[in-house]
Amino acid sequence: MPKFILSSLLLFSSLALAGFSPQDSRVPGGVAIIELPQRGSASPQVLFQDKRVFTTQKEGKWYAWVGLPLSLKAGQYSLIWRTAEGDKAIAFDLSDKKYEEQRLTVKQKHVTPDPKQLARIRKETPEIRSAMDSFRPVVYPLPEQLVQPTQGRISSSFGLRRIFNDQPRNPHSGMDIAAPTGTDVLSALNGKVVAVGDYYFNGKTVIVDHGQGLTTLYCHLSEINGVKVGDKVSAGQKIGEVGATGRVTGPHLHWTVTLNGARVDPALFLKP
Ligand SMILES: [Zn+2]
Repeated sequence: MPKFILSSLLLFSSLALAGFSPQDSRVPGGVAIIELPQRGSASPQVLFQDKRVFTTQKEGKWYAWVGLPLSLKAGQYSLIWRTAEGDKAIAFDLSDKKYEEQRLTVKQKHVTPDPKQLARIRKETPEIRSAMDSFRPVVYPLPEQLVQPTQGRISSSFGLRRIFNDQPRNPHSGMDIAAPTGTDVLSALNGKVVAVGDYYFNGKTVIVDHGQGLTTLYCHLSEINGVKVGDKVSAGQKIGEVGATGRVTGPHLHWTVTLNGARVDPALFLKP
C-alpha cells in the first residue's frame, strides 16, 4: 500500500478515537499511538526497546502508547508485538525535533552538591526512577479527559535544554506550571500512589502509577495532602499544594509524565 494512503488511514482512525488519548507525536520525547492488529479482549503484550508498553482498547481496537525517549535519533524503529505465533515487528518512523535552550542561575550549592548531598542524591535517584519506570500490570479506568494537575501559566516546557550557571544539565524532564504557593495539585488520572518523599532536587514529591508503565510525578510541593504510598487516587483528587521545595527559583509545579520508562511531553496529554 502506498505510504500516503496508509498515513491518511491512520489519521482517520485516530480521529475516530473516543475517550482520552494523548496526541500522536513521533519525535524524541513524544508518544507514538500505534494501532495493533490484535482482536478480542485479551490484553496485548507489546515491547519497545525491551520494555513493556502501555496498551488500551477503544471501540474494539487495541492501541499501544509508546513513550519515545528524548535521546532517540530520527529514523525507523520497531515495536515487538508478542503473539501466540511468535513475535511480530511493527515499524514506525521517528522525526527529529529541536527543543529550545534555556539559561538559568540557581544557588551554586544545587549545581555542585557537596559529598553529603551527593550521597543523598545517589540514594534518592534510583528510588525515584524505580517508582516512575516500573511496569505494573494494572489497568485503571481512563477518564474522558486528563485533568490538568494545577491551574497556572506554563512557565517552562518539556525538553528545554537547560544550562544552570553555564553548566549544561539534563533536558527538562517535565512541564512547569507557575502558581502561587498553596494552589491545589490534583492527580491527572486514576491510579495508585507509589512514592511520597522529600528529595534533594525535587523537594516534596508524589508519584502516581496509572498502570502499565504510565506514571506521573508532581514535585516542589509545599504540602502533601492526605495521601500516602499505596493509596488509590482518582483523576482530579487533591494530592498536594504548589510550593518551592527542592531546586527551584520560585513556586511552581513540576509535572513529569513517563511511559515505558521514557519521560514524554506532558503537553501531549492536555487538550490542545
Ligand atoms: Zn521543571
